[in-house]
Amino acid sequence: MVLKSPGEIELMYEANRLVHRVLDHLDGMVRPGVTTGELDREAERIIRAAGAAPAFLNYRGFPATLCTSINDVIVHGIPGETELVEGDIIGIDCGVLQNGYYGDAARTYAVGEISPEARHLLETTRRSLELAVAAIQPGGRLSDIGSAVQRHVETSGLSIVRDFVGHGIGAALHEDPQVPNFGAPGKGPRLKPGLVLAIEPMVNAGSAGVKLDPDGWTARTDDGSLSAHFEFSVAVTQEGPMILGCEPSRTAAAAG
Ligand code: MG
Ligand code: MG
Repeated sequence: MVLKSPGEIELMYEANRLVHRVLDHLDGMVRPGVTTGELDREAERIIRAAGAAPAFLNYRGFPATLCTSINDVIVHGIPGETELVEGDIIGIDCGVLQNGYYGDAARTYAVGEISPEARHLLETTRRSLELAVAAIQPGGRLSDIGSAVQRHVETSGLSIVRDFVGHGIGAALHEDPQVPNFGAPGKGPRLKPGLVLAIEPMVNAGSAGVKLDPDGWTARTDDGSLSAHFEFSVAVTQEGPMILGCEPSRTAAAAG
């Protein structure tokens, strides 16, 4: 695990601020008729105009700036000609590399009016991320995070995806440790100041199972149920957790 200095955390705050600026902008574009490719091109334009680079483009061959994951797609959907439809939900995951450090965050957006079931899924997933952040205390342990997510999601009648997890982040997009969204509290490494984690609950309305499309990227629920995904990059500091680049109320706007 790589611990970051206060100066490095400041750079990571800026990288994540750019990510959230993109996600805020896309909030104004998500509506029936827009294509995921249009969202992707706009995100890349904003990132490059800021002097940064898209982090996902060409990462292990991924072909786009954003992951755009509609309805039963959990994560890693590929942008293209698909048009959003009233009542869809779309997870948008964005990563950037700026001044040598990565930013990584995701939100799930409602396309127009969505069903009460979809609303419950979005609000539960977002709230589970907030509770995960609140569970981070200096001297606490890594599994406190996943335990907080799992407890909230399962008491809300929804399922935690096990096949994908959060991760450390810094000068590499994915660093140790892995950050599962499940498990008993009080286990694993201590949460030391300087640790920066991308925490990203993925929640299914039905069962937790995952299946992969033939494209090798698009991960769907195996029962066709809806799935949601929210992510923050969070620094552990002496004073407690610091969400990088974003006020938590912003994602409430995305889900609301
Ligand atoms: Mg991400
Ligand atoms: Mg991530």
